[in-house]
Amino acid sequence: MNGADGRTRTGDLTLTKRLLYQLSYIGTWLGHCNGLALDNGLTAGGFRTKQRLRAQFSEVETQVQTKGTLTVICGPMFSGKSRELIRTVHIAEIAGQPVTLLKAGIDLRYSVDDVASHDGLTMKARAVNTAREIIAIVQSAPVTPTVVAIDEGQFFDQGLAAVCIWLRDKGMRVVVAGLDRNFRGEPFGPMPELLAIADDVIKLRAVCMRCKDPRVTATLPQRLIDGRPAPYDSPEILVGGLDSYEARCLNCHEVPGRPDPGQLIQGMLGH
Ligand SMILES: [Zn+2]
Repeated sequence: MNGADGRTRTGDLTLTKRLLYQLSYIGTWLGHCNGLALDNGLTAGGFRTKQRLRAQFSEVETQVQTKGTLTVICGPMFSGKSRELIRTVHIAEIAGQPVTLLKAGIDLRYSVDDVASHDGLTMKARAVNTAREIIAIVQSAPVTPTVVAIDEGQFFDQGLAAVCIWLRDKGMRVVVAGLDRNFRGEPFGPMPELLAIADDVIKLRAVCMRCKDPRVTATLPQRLIDGRPAPYDSPEILVGGLDSYEARCLNCHEVPGRPDPGQLIQGMLGH
């Protein structure tokens, strides 16, 4: 089944399979009941059967629609995460679905109130500082949102995964965009847990801004301070705009002072 934005959703496929299975079961049962009704000439009984089946069908529909979905859009800078999030929100709005668009308050790249892609696409968003605030925002919304979209997920606290599960359980379509790895190349904030519980993951890639080699893709954010690679022990989050970022491939990603994986392996082997 295609999602509203035209992508194939594994979650939808699972639901579709379940729905088809239940419908085939009801269909078999309907054939059986119709046969009985015809055998006995019971028109009223057939009507009651139809009513009962309609009720069962609504029940199946309700089951399918009760829970929402969680999609995580991740990748390095310049891979189009915010653009993909904005696209999802835009499509939902065209369909007339109420949307709540949020972003981490710490992200001051472009504007406090906008979700902005690197190529200049913007959309009005509400800045929030903690995952907890999201609950209050959704509960106090005049209309319960169909879609809750969150940008810069990596800047949130570890409570974001629980909040996303809560939103999904309420039947909402939750979409979180964020960096899956920090400048050190390690899992970033609540993103690893979100990726594990997501129904759908969209992992985007960029072009390596150093080698620009078309044979490789950039998966890592490279932090630069005064144009030089930031050391491993610099803070995970730097606010103040002294740093700049590039998307880089594994070959070009530089983190001076990063522990040598070879030494870690030797330690594991007891050498
Ligand atoms: Zn490269």
